Amino acid sequence: MTALVDVEALDRWIREFAGQVAAHKELLTQLDAAIGDADHGANMDRGMTAVVAALDGSRPANAALLLKQVGMTLVSTVGGASGPLYGTFFLRMATASGEVTALDGQAFAKALRAGLEGVVSRGKAEAGDKTMYDALAPAVEALEGTLSAAAPLTEAPTEAPTEAPTEAPTEALTEALRSATRAAEDGRDATIAMLARKGRASYLGERSVGHQDPGATSAALLVAAAATALAQS
Ligand code: ADP
Ligand code: MG
Repeated sequence: MTALVDVEALDRWIREFAGQVAAHKELLTQLDAAIGDADHGANMDRGMTAVVAALDGSRPANAALLLKQVGMTLVSTVGGASGPLYGTFFLRMATASGEVTALDGQAFAKALRAGLEGVVSRGKAEAGDKTMYDALAPAVEALEGTLSAAAPLTEAPTEAPTEAPTEAPTEALTEALRSATRAAEDGRDATIAMLARKGRASYLGERSVGHQDPGATSAALLVAAAATALAQS
């Protein structure tokens, strides 16, 4: 299958996320001020700035090395809940990706699924707990669903390939990442009505209702960054 997400593409994704975090730093801080301790913007920006600096100073030779570097940098520079959670996400992605120079859409989706499982094993969040899980989980599901719906198309031994001869796997991934982004943003918006059951916001009980979760907001930026950075049309 055509290689879609190579090391350069992963690098673009991470840098795009860092840019989005920087652009939304105030928003993430304000959201965390309402139901936490007003540091999510600063935490994520500090971490992603360090990640970009680390990428600038190295040329990871494969997907596992790049993602591992991202995860280790986040764990070591971001305090609070989000550092270990995002760090684990990228470390599990690294392990699932392996020492390859490129991932196809399915392998990228598998790596994201492994990252999500890492977040769960670390933080024990479930659907509806009002955390980053509520944006990430629907995104991974949408990505997998869209890719598998597209898969028969890309494999079909068509008799008459008159138009779009190789219905590009690239387009399938681009479309899947768009639907993943919509799912992440819907999931993020759905956290407004939720009562927090994990993390600092859970201390507020009923008073957490009516506020958008900061971690779900940064997680939606992560998925949107993938759609922006990995789409090749
Ligand atoms: P802290 O809460 O330690 O100040 P941050 O403000 O950086 O850390 O991150 C808060 C975000 O972390 C929350 O909005 C939520 O999305 C996420 N979070 C907190 N606890 C958990 C958990 N157990 N599982 C998943 N995500 C969590
Ligand atoms: Mg906080």
